[in-house]
Amino acid sequence: MIDFAFPPPATPSVAITGSDKRFPVHRIYCVGRNYAEHIREMGGDMAAREPPVFFAKPADAVVANDEAIPYPPRTANLHHEIELVVAIGRGGRDIHKDHALEHVFGYAAGNDLTRRDLQAASKKQGLPWDTAKGFDYSAPVSAIRPASLGHLSRGKIWLKVNDQVRQESDLAEMIWSVPEILAELSTLFELEPGDLVFTGTPSGVGALEPGDRIECGIAGLEVLRNTIFG
Ligand code: MN
Repeated sequence: MIDFAFPPPATPSVAITGSDKRFPVHRIYCVGRNYAEHIREMGGDMAAREPPVFFAKPADAVVANDEAIPYPPRTANLHHEIELVVAIGRGGRDIHKDHALEHVFGYAAGNDLTRRDLQAASKKQGLPWDTAKGFDYSAPVSAIRPASLGHLSRGKIWLKVNDQVRQESDLAEMIWSVPEILAELSTLFELEPGDLVFTGTPSGVGALEPGDRIECGIAGLEVLRNTIFG
């Protein structure tokens, strides 16, 4: 029995569709630049297929479906990014892409909330993205649909703000597929059960304001609904 100096923090977790059990979150990894139209809208160059860009958010940045999100401090340009989230059920390193799906526990819809002004400043100075991406309440995630109900490689992905469609694409447009992402990520980090992987956003990212109602949808998954207050 470890004698902690004070009570340890609670384990962040995500609901599982059709179960009373919860998915305990270990780490949150994210992929940048994974849809061509989004790379173009961010002023990027599509000349070569570059390796996926990875960054991370703290595990306790997860926000549940229907939860209200405080408008974060130190930004005047909070952006939404609808993304397919892969939940890892079996760990491993140097996972081959042909076996990568065996490590998937399930799938969810997520919103990679971003302080875009801080990200732009970081990019300009060649600095890390932590303050732009890894802030409190920056990772809303819907309930996880178990992979036993099927894997996802195509299907509509969309995001609405106050009933207006902002983002709309198809999972088939991802530059790096889920197996390719997990194969590459597992060469950098040992994946563990409880990891979540945000797989990148399509074009149409834009600003959120206090009072906004956000809906994030992926075909076959629970719609993720959150509001912003502040
Ligand atoms: Mn993103």
